[in-house]
Amino acid sequence: MKLTRIKGFSDVLPGEVETWQRIESAAKRVFAGYNFKEIRIPVLEKSELFSRSLGESTDVIEKEMYTFADRDAKATLLSLRPEGTAGVVRAYGEGKLHQVEPVRKLYYLGPMFRRERPQKGRLRQFHQIGAEVFGRTDPFIDAELLLLLRDLWEELDLPQTVLEVNSIGCADCRPGYRAVLVAFLEGRRGELCADCDRRLENNPLRVLDCKRESCAGVVTAAPSILSHLCADCRLHFETVLDLLKDLRPEPLLNHRLVRGLDYYCRTTFEWKAGAGLGSQNTVAAGGRYDGLAQSLGGPPVAGVGFALGVERLALLLSEGDAGEPVAPLLYLAWMGEEAQRWTFSLAHRLRRQGLRVDLEGEGKSLKSQMRRAGKLGARVVLIVGPDEMTKGKALVRDMARKEQTEVDFANVDESLVEPFGPPRQPQASGQIT
Ligand code: ATP
Ligand code: MG
Repeated sequence: MKLTRIKGFSDVLPGEVETWQRIESAAKRVFAGYNFKEIRIPVLEKSELFSRSLGESTDVIEKEMYTFADRDAKATLLSLRPEGTAGVVRAYGEGKLHQVEPVRKLYYLGPMFRRERPQKGRLRQFHQIGAEVFGRTDPFIDAELLLLLRDLWEELDLPQTVLEVNSIGCADCRPGYRAVLVAFLEGRRGELCADCDRRLENNPLRVLDCKRESCAGVVTAAPSILSHLCADCRLHFETVLDLLKDLRPEPLLNHRLVRGLDYYCRTTFEWKAGAGLGSQNTVAAGGRYDGLAQSLGGPPVAGVGFALGVERLALLLSEGDAGEPVAPLLYLAWMGEEAQRWTFSLAHRLRRQGLRVDLEGEGKSLKSQMRRAGKLGARVVLIVGPDEMTKGKALVRDMARKEQTEVDFANVDESLVEPFGPPRQPQASGQIT
């Protein structure tokens, strides 16, 4: 039987993985500039964490989670995480981070799991890079997160993206809007899909988010939440918009942008790709969730965050992407056992100095080793055979210039480390401690 991967799960092979690495290191650089710290949380959590945080009536909880009973006596239900926020909020409370310093700026990256219908830009195991900020209720941090994402797009040279923003109000003003919306939707109930008919009862705001054409038609005429915000929510939202006024293209107001979950409040947003992803065009999405930590039994700490889809970003970037710059390759060609041992230990010394070095494990003709060096894209090939061993000299061939020089064994390390070694000064780019 031929074993294949599971539907909706995918491998990231060399050739594609370079783009992923570039995304990850750009994200780490940008997060470092905004003073975010990384957090790593488990892939598996108690199912209850997700049902309580995302809400029972969401698609993710109703039909998309990978859930199974553990082998303990109580057969505890566990789920592969469908998103990162719930776990980070749990870890923040459980790790008592608020007792030391309530204001935290955290980021994570890793796989998420949702049993959706796979298509371009939509997988069952996908990857997110996400950020969560705790302990800040001010609009400046909402704007900061959006600017952070803009900086990341710039760092990655992402083709044009558009930011859509909305405010979904708070516990004070949303019930009023909800009543107005329900009254409007009741009048057009016949035009709504079956899902939305149900949503109208338990989560009417989610109707605004429905992708079906029939519902979208109804929703364009629906009253906008933006004209029902209370004074505080209005001021918060206006400040966010004002802080983003230099953004180009300008942010679009989209009153249909609701996260639809009870704990979300005020700012919600999505960054959309201009082209290239079809209907899966949302690259990053997020919002404010001031009530979430407390509703999970944690401290009453405000939160705001986003998650971006790595696969979707990679699709937008992959064409012609060379990934992160890597050190030039040195290829050591050897003939004969003595030369093999000599190049084996030279390779080891050079690698310890930070050079990228490769060589064969079995004897091959010089011609085939040169062909392989060319395939690997080696910048320089060092050639050592029985003659060179006798003379104590190696041939060093510059592949681009097609020039060959002889170097004494005594000077070989130095002559290679000098031009091809890492820069002398210590550098911290892309590394976060
Ligand atoms: P969509 O409307 O595209 O289903 P969503 O609202 O379910 O997105 P979020 O839960 O907000 O998405 O996740 C944030 C980001 O994660 C999305 O904007 C997208 O880039 C990515 N993402 C979500 N689900 C998937 C998936 N199944 N496959 C690949 N990427 C995904
Ligand atoms: Mg979805």
